[in-house]
Amino acid sequence: MTDFDYDLFVIGGGSGGVRAARVAAATGAKVALAEEYRMGGTCVIRGCVPKKLMVFASEYHEMFADARAYGWDVEDGQFDWTRFRGKLHAELDRLEDVYRRLLDGSGVEIVDSRATLADPHTVKFTDGSTKSAKHILIATGARPQPPDMKGAELGISSNDIFNLDALPKSILIVGGGYIACEFACILHGLGVAVTQFYRGAQILRGFDDEARGLVSEEMQQRGVDLHLGTNVFEMEKRDAGVWIKATNGTEGTFDHVMFATGRAPNTDGMGLAEAGVELGRQGQIVVDDYSQTKVPSIFAIGDVTNRVQLTPVAIREAMAFVETVFQGNPTKVDHKLVPSAIFTQPEMGTVGLSEEAAREIEPVDIYCTSFKPMQQSFAGRTDRVLMKLVVSKATRKVLGCHIVSPQAGEMIQLVGIAIKMGATKEDFDRTVAVHPTISEELVTMREPVRSA
Ligand code: NDP
Repeated sequence: MTDFDYDLFVIGGGSGGVRAARVAAATGAKVALAEEYRMGGTCVIRGCVPKKLMVFASEYHEMFADARAYGWDVEDGQFDWTRFRGKLHAELDRLEDVYRRLLDGSGVEIVDSRATLADPHTVKFTDGSTKSAKHILIATGARPQPPDMKGAELGISSNDIFNLDALPKSILIVGGGYIACEFACILHGLGVAVTQFYRGAQILRGFDDEARGLVSEEMQQRGVDLHLGTNVFEMEKRDAGVWIKATNGTEGTFDHVMFATGRAPNTDGMGLAEAGVELGRQGQIVVDDYSQTKVPSIFAIGDVTNRVQLTPVAIREAMAFVETVFQGNPTKVDHKLVPSAIFTQPEMGTVGLSEEAAREIEPVDIYCTSFKPMQQSFAGRTDRVLMKLVVSKATRKVLGCHIVSPQAGEMIQLVGIAIKMGATKEDFDRTVAVHPTISEELVTMREPVRSA
């Protein structure tokens, strides 16, 4: 017999929270989940899913041109944003409903309210009522963080893109991370004149230099007006749109300015510090390897912990949490060798160490090739792809793989398995090529291009 209303109370109905609630309930635990907005969280409602659908929509522009090059008699036509947006939101409604039904079907009680902590075992709702739980899991995610500058409120975030009444004619995107680069490509593909400012020397900081260099070059070649070493200095609302002055002195007016300058954990006003939960410098919840906070009854998973901000990682953290707390099997989350893809055009897939990071650790051989892929080359495009393996000189293990190519996301998922298993370069070499494909180059690179 428990003295609490629930065995587990989950705050936040995103990918991590929903998975933890469902799997915990399946162990027989009494579980409730509170969500203040829409079930599904960032991934389903304003992130991965609508973003990927927009990526698909934006790719047709090039496909029409390629189809003509292949002999098809097709016209470009016009992109109808309103028609697409209607279908997009219908799909998001459907997915939200699926999430709700999955929770219902698992016996999880859904509370449609904001919930905060009243004490280490009590959550409080907007109407002032409270419930107690033996364990509380915080999975409240993160939100776009605009820069701290005068006029920043004139900008929009990636959240707003999916709800725009009309597609802008022009947009300035500020930032050089996943979100900035993906939306620069998406909006360009949909016919918007895209300018992008990134304050550093090259976009996608932290990724392999050669790979991000190629993405940057290809984005510019396709028509994204990318300015490196540039930031917004001043902003004003003008009749013609949002006027900006850049740090390099240039001025411009855009229909919208979108900030993709990072995301902040949703911990404000949650009663966390008051309950004894430690917060880090960015406001993230500090947890140990088992996602447990300094308060033994309170755990946290997903973006709110600012470990690796990716949906599949939050889901892993959810599964490990349930295994630890409800199955009596302490399980650490493995954050090593997480494959990921950046859905730019061209796509980039990456797993493991970049050349720059690896050579700081040990001597490495670099295998790399860059070429024009058959399909696009035949259509007269100048696109190049890049395949790169970072290999340990001592063990011959493949420490990192970086792919810039159509479908790089699909490829890196599979390469990720081999690398996670500890595959050596010789294991790659022993594998027969699938011909003719782009990915066959991964098993046919014979000599290192350099050692580092
Ligand atoms: P990122 O941290 O990736 O990028 C933030 C960007 O904004 C960086 O280029 C950063 O520059 C820049 N920036 C930060 N502050 C300022 C400022 N004050 N002025 C100008 N520029 C600034 O964050 P995102 O918001 O793009 O994405 C958040 C996370 O979401 C990612 O880390 C990723 O884990 C996840 N995500 C994953 C996707 C995927 O898997 N495909 C897609 C989208 C998001 P600097 O480099 O100089 O710090």
